[in-house]
Amino acid sequence: MDAADGDWKVIAMKQVEQGKIDVVIVGTGAAGFYCALQLPESTNILMITKENVEHSDSFLAQGGICVLKDEDDYDSYFEDTMRAGHYENNKESVDLMIRKSPDTIKKLISYGVDFQHENGKLVYTREGAHSTSRILYHEDLTGKEISTKLWQRVTERENVKILEYTTMIDLICHNNTCYGLIVKHQDDTIEEIRANYVVLACGGIGGLYEHSTNFPHLTGDALAISLKHGIALKDVNYVQIHPTTLYSEKPGRRFLISESVRGEGAKLYNKNMERFVDELLPRDVLTGKIREQMEKDGTKFVWLSMKDMGEAEIKKRFPNIYKKCLEEGYDPAKECIPVTPAQHYYMGGIWVDIDSKTSMEHLYAIGETSCNGVHGANRLASNSLLESLVFAEAAAKQIVVTWEDIDYDKEIDLKKYDDLDKLEEEYKTMVLEEMERMDQKNV
Ligand SMILES: Cc1cc2nc3c(=O)[nH]c(=O)nc-3n(C[C@H](O)[C@H](O)[C@H](O)COP(=O)(O)OP(=O)(O)OC[C@H]3O[C@@H](n4cnc5c(N)ncnc54)[C@H](O)[C@@H]3O)c2cc1C
Repeated sequence: MDAADGDWKVIAMKQVEQGKIDVVIVGTGAAGFYCALQLPESTNILMITKENVEHSDSFLAQGGICVLKDEDDYDSYFEDTMRAGHYENNKESVDLMIRKSPDTIKKLISYGVDFQHENGKLVYTREGAHSTSRILYHEDLTGKEISTKLWQRVTERENVKILEYTTMIDLICHNNTCYGLIVKHQDDTIEEIRANYVVLACGGIGGLYEHSTNFPHLTGDALAISLKHGIALKDVNYVQIHPTTLYSEKPGRRFLISESVRGEGAKLYNKNMERFVDELLPRDVLTGKIREQMEKDGTKFVWLSMKDMGEAEIKKRFPNIYKKCLEEGYDPAKECIPVTPAQHYYMGGIWVDIDSKTSMEHLYAIGETSCNGVHGANRLASNSLLESLVFAEAAAKQIVVTWEDIDYDKEIDLKKYDDLDKLEEEYKTMVLEEMERMDQKNV
């Protein structure tokens, strides 16, 4: 830590004494928690989340988290990320993510995260579009393991307070500087919260889709609020569809059949039980092939077989997927399961620089809600948890070294937020219209 950090600590301590909030982090997924843990313990941090803490996509991640396992893999990992992203990726971001990955994994382990290991050595798995096995995992519940441990570490910090069922409905902005935010509490009361810095860690946009693997409350609020205040966005129409989610007629969130299932040998079949595709193609290409096949077959799904793995291995390696399939009436050890593509991940988002700073002063964005260009046009499997953590740390560091105490004394008229249902609809429409506008522009 340098001299600037020393000054920062004095300022932060003063604010804690005065009860003023230094940093508000909007979102309690992996990105939000990790950011809170990288800020000095003298920082007075408030974290808010729209629902309860466990309702974030970070808790749902199954497959794993990528890591540069040795220097020899750098070129191959870089190329795999770029190829999956159609070479539209920001190379500087890709380099930073890969270079920072071993340290990030070490930190996670120090926080108590238990990755699969044998004889004291980490075990790596493989997913689509990866040239080699470089993914760390915890059963098929990697996201839950990481998020729970981060959450536990955060709750041990006296400087961090978490408010559940508290929704950001607007930012307090003046002259391209962010001074805090407006929130709605569970009882529908509206409150303004002033802070020196706001970090948006609001996740993806799956809630805007009928079929998505995401939590439905993730509706891109931060994007809509950014559009409203002229905060720059990037690649707004870059949405990833996951090729294999468990087909269901029921409404609600789609259950993901992780790519690592195919990485471990599961095969796809058409309605005549013939293989029709290389299962390890990049997600967007495989999604296209599956949709083509469904159209040819006149079906709403294709079949996925895990049978060759054997019951014991399926239960050991994918216990959660196995359990969920049984609940839905399929025994993956004995029969094929129906799978279909669904919305899964958002590559676009709020434009940020390499330090996760948005185009507005005192406003940062991290995780899926942000876009630093690391994924280009299509995310490589298991790069998103890693990206969320690496760039959350970048934001924390940048906040520390550029620390500035700010105040905005104008009163805010909270009456304009009276009709919250209308506001929510307006926000959804704004994002969808912007995505459509960018789609048409790119045609
Ligand atoms: C089923 C599934 C499986 C996945 N598997 C993998 C995998 O194996 N490997 C991998 O790398 N990635 C995986 N991903 C992607 C990865 O989980 C996410 O990209 C990543 O966890 C995003 O983290 P985040 O912190 O940015 O957002 P999230 O974890 O989604 O958290 C968003 C937070 O923002 C809050 N929020 C949103 N709007 C507001 C608002 N207006 N006010 C207050 N709070 C708000 C939410 O309540 C939530 O707390 C998977 C995703 C899904 C859905």
